[in-house]
Amino acid sequence: MSLNFSLFITALDFAAEKHKLQKRKGKASIPYINHPIKVAKILSEVGLVTEVNVLMAALLHDTIEDTEATTEELDFLFGKEVTSIVLEVTDDKTMEWQSRKDYQIVKAPNLSREAKLVKLADKICNITDIVNEPPDWSAERKRKYLVWAKKVVDALGGNVNQHLEERFAEQYQMGIEVLKEG
Ligand code: ZN
Repeated sequence: MSLNFSLFITALDFAAEKHKLQKRKGKASIPYINHPIKVAKILSEVGLVTEVNVLMAALLHDTIEDTEATTEELDFLFGKEVTSIVLEVTDDKTMEWQSRKDYQIVKAPNLSREAKLVKLADKICNITDIVNEPPDWSAERKRKYLVWAKKVVDALGGNVNQHLEERFAEQYQMGIEVLKEG
């Protein structure tokens, strides 16, 4: 087994362990780990991304933000490159909620290409979930989320990955339509 593959499995196990008591927002109470797995799947299946560092960063992308995982742990297990991608897509939780959301838009243009890929797949996953596995939010709140997610994606500046950008645009359009009807 190649080193990359074995590290990828370690990342999957690490993320599953760290997120094991968490659920996604939404009525169906889906285990949280389904989300990072889906982000990695979107990168691979839609974006045709094969770089293992990007796929590992996708699995790990919420561990620092939402669990007690530390930068040191990630660094030790997965190395500097994966850790730095994860850190780039990690919100600073000492900032208040609205500033954190605004800051994602400010930060987006300066992200590395790898972090932009994870960001794009994450936003595709989130807006798809809002339509298909809706959280207990008002239509207005869902619409606002979609509009904010589009601002973040637009701020990435395009030319990151055409397949992912097209998928985001499709899902966004579909989401806006569905929310109009609902
Ligand atoms: Zn995420």
